[in-house]
Amino acid sequence: MSDLPDCPKCDSDYVYQDDHILICPECSYEWTADTTTDKSEYSDEIRDANGNILQDGDTVTVIKDLKVKGSSLVVKVGTKVKNIRLVDGDHDIDCKIDGIGAMKLKSQFVKKV
Ligand SMILES: [Zn+2]
Repeated sequence: MSDLPDCPKCDSDYVYQDDHILICPECSYEWTADTTTDKSEYSDEIRDANGNILQDGDTVTVIKDLKVKGSSLVVKVGTKVKNIRLVDGDHDIDCKIDGIGAMKLKSQFVKKV
């Protein structure tokens, strides 16, 4: 797993990381890893049940019967949900389901189409 950036000085891709320091073995340039935003980007990613990254506007299907909070309605397995919107929180998908209306889903219970 090498998601380290290339050396900014000589463009080498043999860069390695030592604690918070990135080191280029070719020109021995050293710099701090804190300038990269990769880590925070990764933690913001919302993934479906298969580990695929979800994005606003995606279409997903529900992989598990889900009770709709505060009603007797159930979102059935295989229900297609179009145009999802990712949000923060425990239920990280905002969407509108035909016959049910606006609701929130958990990304672990959906699969990207
Ligand atoms: Zn270098």
